[in-house]
Amino acid sequence: MATDTAKQVPFVNWGISSTASKRNTIGVLGLIIGCPTLVILNWIALEQYRGSLTGAIRAAFSQGPIRFLVHNLPRPTVVTFAGYVAWLLLQTLLYGVLPGAKAFGQRTPGGNLLSYTTNGLAAWAVTHILFLSASVLGLIDPAMIAKHWEGLLVMVNVYGFFLGFLAQIKAYWFPSHPEDRKFSGSWISDFWAGVELNPRFGEYWDFKFFHNGRPGIVAWSLIGLSWAAYQYQTLGHVTESMLIVLILQTTYVVDFFYNEDWYLRTIDISHDHFGLMLAWGDSTFLPTFYTLQFQYLARYPTYLTPIQAAALVALGFFGYAIFRESNYQRDHVRTNPDSARIWGRKATFITCSYRTADGKVHDTLLLTSGWWGLARHSNYLADLVQTWAWCATCGFKNILPWSYFIYMCILLYHRSQRDERRCRNKYGEKWEEYCRVVPYRIIPFVY
Ligand code: NDP
Repeated sequence: MATDTAKQVPFVNWGISSTASKRNTIGVLGLIIGCPTLVILNWIALEQYRGSLTGAIRAAFSQGPIRFLVHNLPRPTVVTFAGYVAWLLLQTLLYGVLPGAKAFGQRTPGGNLLSYTTNGLAAWAVTHILFLSASVLGLIDPAMIAKHWEGLLVMVNVYGFFLGFLAQIKAYWFPSHPEDRKFSGSWISDFWAGVELNPRFGEYWDFKFFHNGRPGIVAWSLIGLSWAAYQYQTLGHVTESMLIVLILQTTYVVDFFYNEDWYLRTIDISHDHFGLMLAWGDSTFLPTFYTLQFQYLARYPTYLTPIQAAALVALGFFGYAIFRESNYQRDHVRTNPDSARIWGRKATFITCSYRTADGKVHDTLLLTSGWWGLARHSNYLADLVQTWAWCATCGFKNILPWSYFIYMCILLYHRSQRDERRCRNKYGEKWEEYCRVVPYRIIPFVY
């Protein structure tokens, strides 16, 4: 809600980060080279070193990294090129034509309130129905994604970088909302972190919303199904461990689309600018790194005892329940501040204001009860619990499937720091007050 009354709200452009330092630029350069290398190294380890990442790294050192990479690099194929283009076109078509409720994102620092058509669940359902029907009718091999993984790995990397460059060019010459652009003074940092906040083609085709959801998250469960089919074809059965990851991760994916409206108010859409980090992250890292458990289990199956299987299912759903409840609580109280109840009591919160670049003052609140009263990022802890359960289905023999859990720990810790810096800028003293009321950051009573 915008209020025109003059309030003592400091003018801070909380969406724009400060100038990139030399250290920051070098770090970003490391990420631009290191992230694709990691994705390819994982594939080499899975293909050639029995899933041992350390084995692959040792070989890279003994052969020399360049020779090792050139010798083992994945090769593109015409089939995967055609298949990947068809996949992008299908998702673009579904994004454009399927019906969905209209929803709004968070107000941007420049004062824009963008609308979205939330038809992700329909796109997910149509894609999966098409895939399953074509498989049952014998028109396609359900294991085809797994079998063409090498070529697809090349395609997603090429597309991720292409999108990163496109986003950069568009930001300079055809920006959608110039007032929401961010320049750090370093081209490399801008290339990675992005310049435009919500780049669009026309009024509705949103780069971020499309790429994170469609080629990214729709593909996630589809890739899982394909690796499960591959395991069935090569092993003669689907292991319990594979089924558990498939059920837990598909729940997470469907939840994402069922609550797509909520996603519009998370950091990805509200605050992160669209650069290589999101372009490559959504198109390449998500479908290849988030699906590591499927890729690992299909080749190196693990067998769980009934007690282990039950414990992992219980832990996975326990983490999911906290994830869903904590994310729901924040949205619910912000929409119904006067009537919302949490855990049987009236919700408590700190009211605060912030200013957008057009000079308007907006009122909002910081929830201090429920999960948001126990720690400032309880929803991150919930994600870590789920991730731990997914990785544990692969056993403890190799670090490779666990690299996803390690990545999530680093990502969410770093994200909590970034977010708190931004909230401190946005809400000033009110954020400090929130930190005094809720002193723990991620783990209640510990950290
Ligand atoms: P959040 O959804 O937690 O959003 C953080 C924002 O919420 C803040 O910037 C602030 O924004 C607002 N906020 C902070 N504290 C409060 C409060 N007490 N009351 C009300 N609003 C508050 O951030 P993320 O987008 O990082 O995470 C969303 C979910 O997605 C999490 O569960 C996370 O674990 C998950 N996630 C998963 C990833 C994956 O790869 N699987 C990657 C990243 C996230 P403002 O006030 O400006 O609205």
